[in-house]
Amino acid sequence: MKKTLALTALVLFCFACDRNEEARVAPQTLPKQHNAQLSRKSAPADWDYEHTTFAKTGSLKHKGKNQSPINIVTKKTILKPLPAINFQYSALELTEVNTGHTVEVEETGDNGIEINDSTYSFKQLHFHAHSEHAVDGQYRAMELHLVHQNELTGKRVVLGVFIEPGAPNPLFQQVLDHLPATANEPVETHLLFQLADWLPASKEYYTYAGSLTTEPFSEGLDWYVFKEPIRLSPDQINAFVAKFHHNARPLQHLVGRKVFEQQGNTIQ
Ligand SMILES: [Zn+2]
Repeated sequence: MKKTLALTALVLFCFACDRNEEARVAPQTLPKQHNAQLSRKSAPADWDYEHTTFAKTGSLKHKGKNQSPINIVTKKTILKPLPAINFQYSALELTEVNTGHTVEVEETGDNGIEINDSTYSFKQLHFHAHSEHAVDGQYRAMELHLVHQNELTGKRVVLGVFIEPGAPNPLFQQVLDHLPATANEPVETHLLFQLADWLPASKEYYTYAGSLTTEPFSEGLDWYVFKEPIRLSPDQINAFVAKFHHNARPLQHLVGRKVFEQQGNTIQ
């Protein structure tokens, strides 16, 4: 795992979500509408992802072969014993940044995860709408990303949590209520919350080797995408979409990669 320790890896937390000019679509209508795109080699030609052309973001034109996000085809995942993620999450104060492309909740405590005998510090979480990953060709309304990094190697691990419509989420409501009006100016609320409250009850996951989903699309990070979603109310989803509509990167090709699936309560 200690490959190239690029200095840039230490500073490029480029998971700030990006947006395009696609018209805003109600989340409930997204899966069918976007399903048609999955069988195509690329997203629509007018895709504009963070001021790049789609050609630069599509994996066929991009140099990388381990790009994210991907469509997870459940019939093709490889079931194998996989370690549980050991969460060392605790309370932290809600500090958030409106990046202009998403809202980020920043680390203010000492949180992290341990997996495969490596530890990764929590750095920030943020949201995409619709989801970036798809499962069997279906997008979800939104996706939460919890970004972690190993302090020694710089290697990143991102946990992906699907979000689907359901009951209101009090924690997300706090995020909405304190959304900074000014971009890139952190707002400290001093409200305490539990980082674990962003996670689904089941911690079963899919995992694969991927990349950042924003430029520079750096590879060499591990994705853990939970099977079970968390819920936000339709109003909460719509409130986010109204501010940050469609900041999801198009699906990328697997290019021979395997997607592994954890099943059962597997403990290392
Ligand atoms: Zn993200």
